[in-house]
Amino acid sequence: MVCYNFVGGGSGIGRATCQVLAREGASIIAADRNIKTAEDTVSQLLDKKENEHCSVHIDVSESKSVKEVLQEVLRKYNRPPTIIVNCAGITKDNFLLKMSEQDFEDVVNVNLKGTFLVTQTFAKAIIEKGLNQASIINISSIAARNGNIGQSNYSASKAGVELLTKTAAKELAQFGIRCNVVIPGFINTPIVNTIPPELKNRFIANISCKRMGEPQEVAEVITFLASEKSSYINSASIEVCGGLLSL
Ligand code: NAP
Repeated sequence: MVCYNFVGGGSGIGRATCQVLAREGASIIAADRNIKTAEDTVSQLLDKKENEHCSVHIDVSESKSVKEVLQEVLRKYNRPPTIIVNCAGITKDNFLLKMSEQDFEDVVNVNLKGTFLVTQTFAKAIIEKGLNQASIINISSIAARNGNIGQSNYSASKAGVELLTKTAAKELAQFGIRCNVVIPGFINTPIVNTIPPELKNRFIANISCKRMGEPQEVAEVITFLASEKSSYINSASIEVCGGLLSL
């Protein structure tokens, strides 16, 4: 694997993905709106390719920022990355009747529009360069399957990510770009830290593995989808949920 762009690489599943992909020999571009955590991700990589990894600031909800990151990457590597992982995501939970328009828009802008902007911008660059072999992995959520109380914005944005990815897969396969979506269940990262312990325990009781997943367990699946080992997997949705009984 030559080059890898991780968006949302400063934390959780994204950071773990940087670690697993680096282990497999990829050059890492850790992109996050929090440049400090993206820098920490790169400095913690254990392989010996320090010069080929880098961190960049990105706000996936702003097309200007996404385009600037592409230009920065082209300056540094002379080519776009051929593995793109869209992991940036936020929650702003509230009951539907109480949810503000702003909180709805913010979540859709990062989770869904951000995935669109990164997918479109980097796919165009891959096609223009005639690279013919690339893999885009987007991250949805099990909350998109049946909805989740307090998460009308998040569930809708993540359902959009799944269908955006399947459509991209159909349009981009002719250019050698595969697009797949990973659907994590309940994973032990900062995004779930705000959930009260009683509620966490209720979620865990609903998982047949009887525990939360670890970020690395999602990262291994993402890395499989990034690699040639998954060369005939396209437009797929892969759940990494530990056998969720219901949500
Ligand atoms: P996380 O640790 O909070 O990581 C998300 C990262 O995205 C953070 O570094 C965050 O930066 C960054 N980010 C937020 N808004 C951004 C923006 N506008 N531009 C660029 N980066 C931005 O959460 P995680 O659990 O690893 O989540 C990774 C993905 O998995 C998300 O899409 C999430 O929805 C999805 N997911 C997670 C779970 C779970 O149980 N953990 C389950 C299903 C799906 P800040 O730190 O500055 O916010």
